[in-house]
Amino acid sequence: MGRRPRRCDPRRARGGGGLMAALALPPLSGSVEPGGSLADFIWFRTGGPAEWLVRPGDTADLAAFMAALPPSLPVLPVGVGSNLIVRDGGVPGVVVRLPKSFAKVAVEPGHRVRAGGAAMGITVASAARDAGIAGLEFLRGIPGTVGGAVRMNAGAYGRDTGDILIEATLVLRDGSVETWPAAKLGYTYRHSALPAGAVVVQALFAGTPGDPATIGAEMDRIAAEREASQPLRSRTGGSTFKNPEGHKAWALIDAAGCRGLTRGDAQVSEKHCNFLLNLGTATSADIEALGEEVRARVKAHSGIELEWEIQRIGVKA
Ligand SMILES: Cc1cc2nc3c(=O)[nH]c(=O)nc-3n(C[C@H](O)[C@H](O)[C@H](O)COP(=O)(O)OP(=O)(O)OC[C@H]3O[C@@H](n4cnc5c(N)ncnc54)[C@H](O)[C@@H]3O)c2cc1C
Repeated sequence: MGRRPRRCDPRRARGGGGLMAALALPPLSGSVEPGGSLADFIWFRTGGPAEWLVRPGDTADLAAFMAALPPSLPVLPVGVGSNLIVRDGGVPGVVVRLPKSFAKVAVEPGHRVRAGGAAMGITVASAARDAGIAGLEFLRGIPGTVGGAVRMNAGAYGRDTGDILIEATLVLRDGSVETWPAAKLGYTYRHSALPAGAVVVQALFAGTPGDPATIGAEMDRIAAEREASQPLRSRTGGSTFKNPEGHKAWALIDAAGCRGLTRGDAQVSEKHCNFLLNLGTATSADIEALGEEVRARVKAHSGIELEWEIQRIGVKA
């Protein structure tokens, strides 16, 4: 990257609610921002800072950095935060955000697409379309990164990331770099067995031969359907709760009378009631408390316990 590796002085850290560790981080050719804001980019636009926000230069840089970090220091990768509530007290330890250099997408023989962990789903779907590779269209509707999709087993329209993933390259918490076949990721509905602290830096997806015009039409259909049914232009975190076996979370929430429910400036979306919204000045505490109220009302109404799909990270203020 050409930039000089920097050691970080925690005394320069901003914010962090007293989270600062009395240590200097190992050198990195990318950037390290003490007290780096997460609310600047995550979809809800709420929550406290990262103790350290780290943007690695490349995979080798990240691997060397992670290997040299004290093993007790937590590491949390984030994508674009389309599935996150960052609590108001911030996130202790290191938050890794892959920069644009990790967003490359390339088509390979055998109807495969190789994508960096920071590539957006729409970019992967578009590259597949242009190369006549079918089966990846659903990524068009998921507004997150490849890393987030691999971790969450993101899916829509009957397909999940686990269905198209061949393998993922990971930097594990100890700094080792490994390529895992999809089977090792133990995929179930919106869940993977990705180890804590592991960063997905690359993924290889496979599709089937298809006609670019047909694939494009399907992507357009998905985009239009999303626009009509989801609050895409709002500060939200996507589907809040997993669909319980045999049920739709939104229908349970609606039946429990929660559509439009508010707490502070947090609201259950009128358009799609499995989405929570920040109407402007909500805190993460408002959003999380509203989610818990929805869970309690659904439990009282139907006896079903909703499970959070949104990842809640960090500490309360
Ligand atoms: C309008 C809207 C619509 C949505 N529709 C869908 C949908 O149809 N289907 C669906 O499944 N989801 C949907 N989501 C949720 C979200 O887009 C997905 O979960 C997405 O995969 C999250 O990606 P991200 O990059 O934003 O990850 P983040 O939200 O930043 O992180 C989510 C999780 O992934 C982990 N993570 C992120 N990057 C990496 C990485 N490089 N390595 C390892 N772990 C990582 C984080 O630690 C966290 O646990 C929607 C969200 C919104 C806002």
